[in-house]
Amino acid sequence: MTSFNDLALICERIENISGSLEITQVVADFFLSIDDKELEITSRFIMGQIFPVWSPLQLGIGPGMLYATLSRASGLPVRDIKELVKKNGDVGLAAKEAMANNNKTQSTFATFVEEDNVLSITDVYMRFVNIAKASGKGSQATRIRNLQFLFAQAVHTEAVYIARLAIEELRIGVGEGIVRDAIARAFDVTKDDVEMAYILTNDMGMVARETRLKGIEGLRKMDITLGRPIKQMLAQISSGIEPVVREMGSVAVEWKFDGARVQIHKDGNNITIFSRRMEDVTDSLPDIVSMIRNGITAKSAILDGEVVVFEDEKPGAFQQILKRFRRKYDVDIMVSKIPLQLFLFDIMYINGMNLFNNNLVLRRQQLLECVNPSATLNVSEQVITSDVQVVNNIYMTALDAGHEGVMLKNPESLYSPGKRGKNWLKVKPLMETLDLVVIGGEWGEGRRAQMIGSYQLACIESTTGQFLSMGRVGTGITDDLLLELTLRFKDLIIIERGTELDFVPEIVFEVAFEEIQKSPTYNSGYALRFPRLVRVRDDRDPNEVDTLERIEQLYINQKGRVDI
Ligand code: AMP
Repeated sequence: MTSFNDLALICERIENISGSLEITQVVADFFLSIDDKELEITSRFIMGQIFPVWSPLQLGIGPGMLYATLSRASGLPVRDIKELVKKNGDVGLAAKEAMANNNKTQSTFATFVEEDNVLSITDVYMRFVNIAKASGKGSQATRIRNLQFLFAQAVHTEAVYIARLAIEELRIGVGEGIVRDAIARAFDVTKDDVEMAYILTNDMGMVARETRLKGIEGLRKMDITLGRPIKQMLAQISSGIEPVVREMGSVAVEWKFDGARVQIHKDGNNITIFSRRMEDVTDSLPDIVSMIRNGITAKSAILDGEVVVFEDEKPGAFQQILKRFRRKYDVDIMVSKIPLQLFLFDIMYINGMNLFNNNLVLRRQQLLECVNPSATLNVSEQVITSDVQVVNNIYMTALDAGHEGVMLKNPESLYSPGKRGKNWLKVKPLMETLDLVVIGGEWGEGRRAQMIGSYQLACIESTTGQFLSMGRVGTGITDDLLLELTLRFKDLIIIERGTELDFVPEIVFEVAFEEIQKSPTYNSGYALRFPRLVRVRDDRDPNEVDTLERIEQLYINQKGRVDI
């Protein structure tokens, strides 16, 4: 058994490496040094994941519970823990400092530690399993107790990574790509094979273990399991109808329905529905289950589509859909109160056959063949054309019908799970831009280490004049501009906490974005989806930036699509 401290040391080492090739090598070497079960756990841990996305087990530890547990484990009041988090800008470092304090003061909690009991990677995982499984009365106490046990046992830097894992944010820069490459390197298989197995199973742990135990043969045998979600193909923002048509030649045009994405698995009579975030939402959508049961002729299938609410013939507010998804009580009442329609637009699997390698035209044919449409079950209309005017007309009709715009798909394209590629492009009206003041920033990483790489934006509360944070912008800024901005903002730094910076609020950015989302993370209560810097507004005073009221209004007006 490998101690958790070995993993903590590897994480610490990785944090100090900037090149991804070197990180991959470190991860690969570590994978080779641990046993099969630990390999499965570690392949997820190292990217900040405890359970596979499709697992019914959910850790669900929020900052509140983490701070309460750290307070108990360290003997410090919660207030001090919060201060430590603020000071360090990181829950991991705060946990380490809090626990160091505990050791210094030898608080009564020290008795919790079982002498000579080294925490292994499996021990940590099993505690997380206990936490995820705790339910009903007393579950809160069980969860805190298990987490407290881990902190009490932690030595050296272990507390850093236990805390970060507990909130499932390891922040060491290891993502799916690096784990995929590390598995390939450690067990001498190709990245493409690892990638495909991962796409089909959605569990890096299982992929790593199979690869080690059964080599390339085993890896290639891994397949879709009905009832476990696969990653959805995603869309990119298009540069406009004309350039897309010019580039693609002929395009498959469909309405971009204003609803919520679903992935539906039919396995005989067993139907499972997953949300965009791969949560199992079957129980809250019995009407969709019967639509599938009655309307899909294939014995087994995996279908992709959008669930839409209609009110007076128009797509209803997104909030209505939210009332249906994940509903646990009065589901039947909600079914009749908020009826849903399903628009299917793709099929990834039919009767034991994976369809990823069929092009869109073929898949659509297969989809049409297995659907018996009804008043509520539809296959999205699709027109293949190379005429810009035809696309424009469909776009206008979709907007008139209250939908978001159109999707332009490459008819020749394969289904690429998890990819936000150029084969699905969305066309929708741009939102207005916002003028926001920059109140903070963060030093970049790697190549951008000498530059301030992202900027914290804020709107203004008009009555109090207080600036309220709305998240960061970091994309859409060229290196030249970053350098120029860094020079300007360097003079405005008030506080530096690690890589985090607070600025005198002086410079205003005009920011474009895709939509406004509610967000508990920022004190404005809102965040921008896909923000990009349009320009620096030197003609604007910080007190003239957009107000919270305007943002609230825009949020209400925009129909508020979010991933659910
Ligand atoms: P976005 O969420 O803005 O990235 O846009 C992509 C989303 O549009 C997908 O995840 C679907 O939920 C939704 N969508 C609506 N209609 C379609 C369609 N005809 N084809 C694909 N996606 C669609």
